[in-house]
Amino acid sequence: MLDQQSLSALLEAVKRLEGGFAKLPAPEGEAPGMARLAEVLNATAERLRDNYPYFHPLYAGQMLKPPHPIARLAYALAMWINPNNHALDGGRATSAMEKEAVAEIAAMFGWKNFLGHLCGGGTMANLEALWVAGQLHSGKKILASEQAHYTHKRISGALHLEFETMPCDERGRMDTDVLAKRVARGDVGTVVATMGTTATGSVDPLPEILTLRERYGFRIHADAAYGGYFVLAENLGADSAAAFLRIGEADSIVIDPHKHGLQPYGCGCVLFRDPGVGRLYKHDSPYTYFSSAELHLGEISLECSRPGAAAAALWATQRLLPLEKGGAFARGLERGRKAAQALFEKVRADSRFVVAFAPELDIVIFVPTAASASEASVLSRRIFEAAAQRDLHLAVAELPIRFWGENLGSMKRDRETLTCLRSVLMKPEHLDWIDRIWEKLSLSTQAVLQS
Ligand SMILES: *Cc1c(COP(=O)(O)O)cnc(C)c1O
Repeated sequence: MLDQQSLSALLEAVKRLEGGFAKLPAPEGEAPGMARLAEVLNATAERLRDNYPYFHPLYAGQMLKPPHPIARLAYALAMWINPNNHALDGGRATSAMEKEAVAEIAAMFGWKNFLGHLCGGGTMANLEALWVAGQLHSGKKILASEQAHYTHKRISGALHLEFETMPCDERGRMDTDVLAKRVARGDVGTVVATMGTTATGSVDPLPEILTLRERYGFRIHADAAYGGYFVLAENLGADSAAAFLRIGEADSIVIDPHKHGLQPYGCGCVLFRDPGVGRLYKHDSPYTYFSSAELHLGEISLECSRPGAAAAALWATQRLLPLEKGGAFARGLERGRKAAQALFEKVRADSRFVVAFAPELDIVIFVPTAASASEASVLSRRIFEAAAQRDLHLAVAELPIRFWGENLGSMKRDRETLTCLRSVLMKPEHLDWIDRIWEKLSLSTQAVLQS
């Protein structure tokens, strides 16, 4: 189940890497503690068993999946060097790889002349985007939807930028009627468009937000940490396809290679359409930047030390699976979405469940049928646990009851939110497992309803 075959490729690559340093005299001695290495490594393996099986198709809960083997191996390979992309001195090869890999991501959004780099994750990337936004529109507000990632509010606080929440429509997307009225009142510096919300995968109506920008001149930051790669998918619904078609018109974009880009954690990416924002990063560090005349990505990053290994892993992954429509990577995303649609149809057709809206990307949300919202919420948790006992791992989420609209029928609306079941079907293999996932969900639900 856990790929071991590819380890031989790693051994070969380590030898090849070593060949690059063959003329050096061999250092003496070894790292301390090597005699007990295997023992401690096995103890580590024992500890790591205490995890959900994120690598398995029956894990269909949160946004978690293992990196592609090439990413894992390229990362591990780079660990023999441990480059630091803070500056060229810390990692020449991986600095170049970062530039190439980031340019490929930007090209996916139609950008050639841009500024961007890798960072620790979506939160850091959003922090940087809002930090730039705040400097370009100082004293003005940041707006994001109520379903935007919760860290936008906290980041705005850290940056001393005023933040306002915009309501969502019944499909979890920013309500642009309310937004239109709000921006007309003035004082708005930046609107965050979430291109795939973390909870439901809803895509904010970017075309309408762009129209408002023409009139009111605010910045648009596209938080595509989760959904960004779906710009390559060719099986989206009309609204989400229209939104992704225009994502390149945003002023900044955040995308997380460690979510849908098959990377280990510690790999986010921020991109700016105008390379001129580089001036905002100006500093006069006396020690790190003397080694090149050309811009190094460490100079335009809020973080200093950054793992060169993350760049090596991303570069290798994109070389194996290029970011192109119709390619194996894009087809994988499309399969996840198909899996979500298939599960949605099964749940919708079964009277024991009530679905909210159809998935825009690859996330399905639903509740068990019950007399009241409170009862449905309790049942959701019990089904979550019953499914886990059958090795099917879903997630629970707390979402506004209005996402279920008329579908709730006579269910008593005695709460504002529903604790619902949520399934993120982000692995391409999920599509082959939908029948088995459904069978386990169905059995678990039957067991809960009968008890
Ligand atoms: C996951 C996510 C984030 C936060 O990214 P991290 O990589 O977890 O720091 C921000 N925005 C959206 C839309 C996300 O899905």
